[in-house]
Amino acid sequence: MDTLCRLMPSELPETIDPMRLAKIGKALSGSYDLHQLARVNALLEADPGGQVSFRLKFSRDDESRLFCVVVELEAMLPMVCQRCLQPMQRQVGGIVNMAIVSNEAEAESLPAQFEPYIESGVSVKLQDFVEDELLLVMPLVALHGEKTCPAADKPIENKSGRERIAKVNPFAELKNLKLRK
Ligand SMILES: [Zn+2]
Repeated sequence: MDTLCRLMPSELPETIDPMRLAKIGKALSGSYDLHQLARVNALLEADPGGQVSFRLKFSRDDESRLFCVVVELEAMLPMVCQRCLQPMQRQVGGIVNMAIVSNEAEAESLPAQFEPYIESGVSVKLQDFVEDELLLVMPLVALHGEKTCPAADKPIENKSGRERIAKVNPFAELKNLKLRK
């Protein structure tokens, strides 16, 4: 039975209780203006004009018997190419499989295919939930394709390792600040 409801933003519930929705097998989909998402905006180089579309499917996983949320997201974000330092639009999206757990210990014992969602026992704002997931799938680094990047012949040092990329980011950030004005 497909309980997916396509809802306009105004019809989306303001808060959700993921565990309750998983028990009844509910699905929600919709979109938010990126302008509304302050934490995502803080990481962007320019005002995002678009929206993030999402689809959330709450269910009980047949195999593991865990209560789960499958999160699908899609957005176009203004970022900066870390090779040429020019602005670019980066398509961002992905599917995150989350399992609802009640504490850190349960989170650590989850099968590898699940990201933990630690239940707080209270309802959460749907917008915050979607924003958390978008932050999770956002790339730390954006790059033009080899053919379109004006600096394609320049080597990039940070091809491997998230930590290393994270270390490189602050410098890129400084350069971008200078470029802005
Ligand atoms: Zn580039």
